Amino acid sequence: MRRIDEIQCIGMRHRIAVIGSGPAGLVFARVLHRHGHPVAVFERDPTPDARPPGGTLDLQEGLGQLALDKAGLLAEFETLSRPEGQAMRILDTDGTVLRDWQPRPDDRANPEIDRRQLRDLLLGPLDVQWGRGVTQVVPGTRDGVLVHFEDGRQETFDLVVGADGAWSRVRPAVSEVTPHYTGVTFVETSLDDVDTRHPDLARLIGDGSVAVYGVNRGLVAQRNSGGHVKVYAQFRAPLDRHTNLDATDVEAVRSSLLALFDGWAAPVLDLLRRGTAFAHRPLYVLPTPHTWNHVRGVTLLGDAAHLMPPLGAGANLAMLEGAELAESIANGPGDLDDAVRAFEERMWARAGRWAKITAAGLERLVSPDPAEALALFDEVQPA
Ligand SMILES: Cc1cc2nc3c(=O)[nH]c(=O)nc-3n(C[C@H](O)[C@H](O)[C@H](O)COP(=O)(O)OP(=O)(O)OC[C@H]3O[C@@H](n4cnc5c(N)ncnc54)[C@H](O)[C@@H]3O)c2cc1C
Repeated sequence: MRRIDEIQCIGMRHRIAVIGSGPAGLVFARVLHRHGHPVAVFERDPTPDARPPGGTLDLQEGLGQLALDKAGLLAEFETLSRPEGQAMRILDTDGTVLRDWQPRPDDRANPEIDRRQLRDLLLGPLDVQWGRGVTQVVPGTRDGVLVHFEDGRQETFDLVVGADGAWSRVRPAVSEVTPHYTGVTFVETSLDDVDTRHPDLARLIGDGSVAVYGVNRGLVAQRNSGGHVKVYAQFRAPLDRHTNLDATDVEAVRSSLLALFDGWAAPVLDLLRRGTAFAHRPLYVLPTPHTWNHVRGVTLLGDAAHLMPPLGAGANLAMLEGAELAESIANGPGDLDDAVRAFEERMWARAGRWAKITAAGLERLVSPDPAEALALFDEVQPA
């Protein structure tokens, strides 16, 4: 840790802003905060609970958990997380159990945590500026990097970190790329109080997840805390096939999905029949590898830098990147820009590897040959 006079000097020297309060932005801010660096956090959502937080996240030992360690939050994570949530059951479309994997009691490789719990853990003492959506970032002005906000205000910083997710408004300051559709769509639904209201489905799902893979489609149900379950119908389809359906027309979406999964075992289809609301989640990715010519005063973290298929890496990488960038700024003896450049090289190399792994994984999980999904599971989780 640094002495107060040293911190004040650094604080005066570097005006740092992070855009977005997802896992990347919050870990970045939290680790800087731990090292005594001031950082401004701007978030578009008007309040922390303005949107449903999304499904449970598994945090890996060498990635997300390492980031929490760097933030001094690993012990608290261990009390909140659900190691039993690592359990995974795979069924055939007729309901036959093909795999039933249970973690050992001491297995802490990938425990699950609800996104809301993770967010609150990371928020801690941070003073996020809610309702401050960014519209544009302009590097290279006389006073530094100029940030334009939705409310018409403008502010200038020495470093602006874009942690604003898939549709980043910071990204255009460093790169021209935009996300493209993978050809795979998820439609999400959920069940509440599953143990009380749907005990048969609670048994089917177990403590963790149940997955069923068919030809070019799959159904995955994942337990969150408090008896909440998220169900993902996954399938290959042109982008407009489902997004054309109004997600608020619950019965239209439900019957379209039931037609798509026609012939699957009744208990599996019950996951869709009893779902309460639906949301379209077409999967987009950024080109691989995504690198850019370094721009002084601006960088990206997480999905803004390397949006990839959701196979358990995105939030983990986002968090570790946040921690590593913060540490290299806090510990680096020299120029802020040198610290950012060194971080970018490291991020690009690691994210490039994961982007390939997750793209190949998606091809196998939503595949013409469902045996591919089972083979992938056996490679990742040997008996
Ligand atoms: C169904 C699904 C399941 C997943 N499961 C896992 C998993 O188990 N493990 C895992 O590691 N990853 C998982 N992921 C991926 C993970 O959700 C993302 O990779 C992760 O959330 C990226 O974090 P981030 O902080 O970069 O971006 P985000 O989480 O997208 O956060 C970006 C933040 O920026 C804000 N923002 C956006 N635009 C602006 C703006 N213009 N101005 C200000 N603020 C803005 C947003 O409101 C948001 O708060 C999953 C993804 C999906 C879709």
